[in-house]
Amino acid sequence: MDESIHFCVKCGKDVVWQPLGDNGKSHPKCQSCGFILWQHPYPSVDALIVRQTSQSMDVLLGRRSRDPKAGMWDVPGGFIGIDDDPIQVIKRECLAEFDADVIVVKPVGAFLEVFDGQQLVSIFHVCELMDDRFSTTDRVDQIRWYSVDRLPPLAFQSVAKAVKELR
Ligand SMILES: [Zn+2]
Repeated sequence: MDESIHFCVKCGKDVVWQPLGDNGKSHPKCQSCGFILWQHPYPSVDALIVRQTSQSMDVLLGRRSRDPKAGMWDVPGGFIGIDDDPIQVIKRECLAEFDADVIVVKPVGAFLEVFDGQQLVSIFHVCELMDDRFSTTDRVDQIRWYSVDRLPPLAFQSVAKAVKELR
């Protein structure tokens, strides 16, 4: 954390960053009202849309058309918002990014990542297409099946870690 928070969000008085919690990391604590603004990675979800062929296990990847990491390959995913059901977020992001309806099969694992300077923890899930339909959107300019053994340049190391769990 860059200790960029200087004032209490509740009362506006000065905060002091101090080690708190079990891992010893610093959090801003108000010197007046005692409020602690705990710092955490944001929770998010990602979809590993897979298919099994006679030759290989494939994962559906899209080439990002936007920064960060424009031109590199990624899977659909997004932040879990207030009141969001995580499974519904996966389905929503698959539609928004790959124009694909998916069935969420099972969780794969949770991995730390940095997106645009923000730490997040993404919970990856194996998904399958409900039909064969997918298409590019304003988020991705190409979508292709790749064998899990021969991946293109990936935008995020968490995707590589999650795919490794499939092998
Ligand atoms: Zn305060």
